[in-house]
Amino acid sequence: MITLIRNVELFSPASEGLCHLVLSGGLIETVLPATTDLSDLLGLKAIDIEDFDARGMIATPGFVDSLVHFAGGGGEGGFGTRIPELLVDEALRSGTTTFVGALGTDSVTRTLSNVLAKCREFQIAGLSAYMYTGSYHLPAPTLTGSVSTDLLYIPEVIGLGELAIADHRASQLSTAELARIASQTRVSGMLAGKRGIVFCHLGDGEGKLSLIEQVVEQTDIPIHQFYPTHINRTQTLMEAGFEYIRKGGVIDFTASTTPELLQQGEISCVQAFIRAQEKNLPLSQITFSSDANASLPEFDAEGDLVGLKAGRADSLFSTLREAVLEHKISLEAILPCITSNPARILGLNRKGHIKAGWDADITLIDPKEWQVAAVWSGGKKVL
Ligand code: ZN
Repeated sequence: MITLIRNVELFSPASEGLCHLVLSGGLIETVLPATTDLSDLLGLKAIDIEDFDARGMIATPGFVDSLVHFAGGGGEGGFGTRIPELLVDEALRSGTTTFVGALGTDSVTRTLSNVLAKCREFQIAGLSAYMYTGSYHLPAPTLTGSVSTDLLYIPEVIGLGELAIADHRASQLSTAELARIASQTRVSGMLAGKRGIVFCHLGDGEGKLSLIEQVVEQTDIPIHQFYPTHINRTQTLMEAGFEYIRKGGVIDFTASTTPELLQQGEISCVQAFIRAQEKNLPLSQITFSSDANASLPEFDAEGDLVGLKAGRADSLFSTLREAVLEHKISLEAILPCITSNPARILGLNRKGHIKAGWDADITLIDPKEWQVAAVWSGGKKVL
């Protein structure tokens, strides 16, 4: 079967103007200017053609989300504060087609087998799903007995994470411990043909990114082996993150937030992006992830936990909408943060761009309503 998406305004993520997209075998067969006459192709009786006239719509690469808590996160306030797992239905509506799952604080009652099972569930629904081995803590929990064998033997495992640093919930790693686990992840990734990224959860601790920077200074491990997230958590961490990308690193901002967190000093993804733009920083080294189904704790004036909200899978799309509608940021400028940038950093070849030979992961946006109108994942219409 061939799928035609005709007369669509294409952001590949670069702005390409009006185009026809031709999908076949799960891939993008070709991208044609909308002036191309398709009547010969449409006249072919022997081929099953799914024809979709997308006039007035915008096509973007399916979003790539480098952090979701498939198995649910939270639990820091006891068993009554556990966040439920991420549901496929919710994921399908989010505009995201590639998900990377991780455990969080709780690696006792939540397990990597649960995360892997969710990957498989998402794949059956037509989405792309990967995961990190390990958790917040060291020694890292694994599926097969070691980080190396997880990376080598389990296709879904693409790195280690989210390893917590600069956080009271972290394992309080030494530079040597972080260097050792990073080199193991790096070498196993090389053997498996994967990036073997070390995805790091940054807390609001004093140390900020210094532990990673020390490893980079004191060893031969390159800075791009690390992928730190929650960099928009505080003003000072964001400033440290900006210094860090000047040195060649990559950083991730968390799209899920709450008014309470913003009041406590978190900077929204869009605001953080605007600051980076103003400072002329390399925007290709910035990504956004949803932190879906993580717990977003709320504290009262005395600092006591008073409630929890959950990260949302659709926060990538709402960030896009906020950027374009409220801040007049061009789609072309911000889209790489949730498509081509995370795909490149994670080593997910054939994802994050709409071009011939790449995976047919496409999100169709209705710009009148600013809603996700349709989603193709691996060439299959899943929404
Ligand atoms: Zn985290």
